[in-house]
Amino acid sequence: MMQQASDKHFSAIKRIGIFGSTGSIGKQTLDVIAAHPDLFKATILTAHSNHKLLIEQALQFSPEAVLISDSSKYPGVREALASTGIKVFSGEETLEEVAALDCYDMMMAGIVGFAGLKPTLMGIKTGKSIALANKETLVVAGDVVMQSAKENGVSIIPVDSEHSAIFQCLVGEEQNEIERIILTASGGPFFGKKPNYLVNVKREHAIQHPNWSMGAKISIDSSTLLNKGLEMIEAKWLFGLTPSQIEVVVHQQSLIHSMVQFMDGSIKAQMGLPDMKLPIQYAMAYPKRIKNDFPRFNFTKSSIMNFEPPDMKTFRNLALAIGAMHKGGNMPCILNAANELAVYGFLKNRIGFLDMTEIIERTMSEVAFIEKPTLEEYFDSDGAAREYAATLIDL
Ligand code: NAD
Ligand code: MG
Repeated sequence: MMQQASDKHFSAIKRIGIFGSTGSIGKQTLDVIAAHPDLFKATILTAHSNHKLLIEQALQFSPEAVLISDSSKYPGVREALASTGIKVFSGEETLEEVAALDCYDMMMAGIVGFAGLKPTLMGIKTGKSIALANKETLVVAGDVVMQSAKENGVSIIPVDSEHSAIFQCLVGEEQNEIERIILTASGGPFFGKKPNYLVNVKREHAIQHPNWSMGAKISIDSSTLLNKGLEMIEAKWLFGLTPSQIEVVVHQQSLIHSMVQFMDGSIKAQMGLPDMKLPIQYAMAYPKRIKNDFPRFNFTKSSIMNFEPPDMKTFRNLALAIGAMHKGGNMPCILNAANELAVYGFLKNRIGFLDMTEIIERTMSEVAFIEKPTLEEYFDSDGAAREYAATLIDL
């Protein structure tokens, strides 16, 4: 009987709203959907400015609604989709309106940066389950987001590979106390390098990640190790941990995606080849696992795994993020805003690699600290931090 009931449950097609469908996470989400049309249907697609790809995706996947943030691209999208019956929205301010639509069951939160916060909160408020790739949402306002999810009975399932790994290790362990979690870090493209080398690195080099192919912002965050700091803060909120329970180890092969150590000292790890489609698919199908044809790991071909502590003297952004996590309040929000601007400045070749650290550090010491911010105050802190960081960059 039980089996029948759960089979019936999974025979319904899950409607996915993909926020950020033209990005790295968004495109891979569509790949998973295309491979499992019996399980998933994309009913919302949103894009910031890549209208050509949005149109292409809409014609292929026939969602109920699409949104293009860049209003100057709206007429083109509307015209291209005129005969399809797909609703076309325009402007970043309508993201929340689209997130409130009832034509989807699960949000793939694949927008990058602070911009993902409002639509994700609206998805939660309107009862959608959240597959969370957008880590900045929890870095900025983790307490508000988790509280709202609790109040609305909504589950937040991580897509970030490390958090998916921890989530998978915790299945069936609800009764058991976690001693610590260990997030693995690849070390990024500049592993082993020192400041005298980093001072001259350029965008083209920093953007090349050794193990993952990702969007520009997270690639830079990975090269500075700030990404791992954001992930520590993300883990704190997702799993209800204290900062002292969260550790980072550099594991260059990216085969172990993260680990949980329980109160008896036993450590569970989740492993696999680095491929974001796996955590994407897991979040979408949870609690079920579904078959796929992704390449499998072969123990006889890659036999080495190493682990070492991160070099926080060189990669100071990680130390700054850990400091922000311990400080709490609006400090992670300030760190995030300063970093978004710094990364933007670096990607535009306006500042050097090491200047990013300087900008984050100075902004953290300049913007007023608030111990228990309201959502409104998080928005204000983000604005104040951006404003100050902008004065340090010739944008
Ligand atoms: P990306 O830059 O490739 O894509 C970002 C998407 O967000 C695009 O669809 C873009 O149109 C949209 N977008 C950008 N700015 C926007 C704005 N201001 N308003 C509305 N939409 C906007 O980024 P990505 O690599 O896919 O990463 C997305 C998120 O997932 C990030 O938070 C990142 O940290 C997280 N993440 C990504 C990966 C990965 O492998 N790419 C892995 C783990 C976590
Ligand atoms: Mg990650």
